[in-house]
Amino acid sequence: MSSVVQRCRWCGARFETAAGAGRRPLYCRRSHRQRAYESRQVALRHQLGPEDVLLTRSGFEAIRDLLFRIEAALQDIDSDLAGGAEPDEYRQALWHLYEAAGSVRTISLEPRAVGS
Ligand SMILES: [Zn+2]
Repeated sequence: MSSVVQRCRWCGARFETAAGAGRRPLYCRRSHRQRAYESRQVALRHQLGPEDVLLTRSGFEAIRDLLFRIEAALQDIDSDLAGGAEPDEYRQALWHLYEAAGSVRTISLEPRAVGS
């Protein structure tokens, strides 16, 4: 029997389900389905839409700062490579972007359960 890989709607983790007819699960585990349900209930109580997301200020600032660093690195690379470049300059540009994007490893977007 073949399987289908999909992403959990709560945590974003990939998981496999059996292919074929029938309703596919949306969550990688029952506890994530429960957390998603609880989150929807909190959203309803606070009149948030299904596409709205709440972030802590520190989480928002971390993401905003990361995007700013990546954008600045891309602008540097654009000007460094304008008009052509030597292979070593491409390597330096890639390293510059790699360093700017490296802090993505410290940012977690996994949702938190209600009350945690
Ligand atoms: Zn999950």
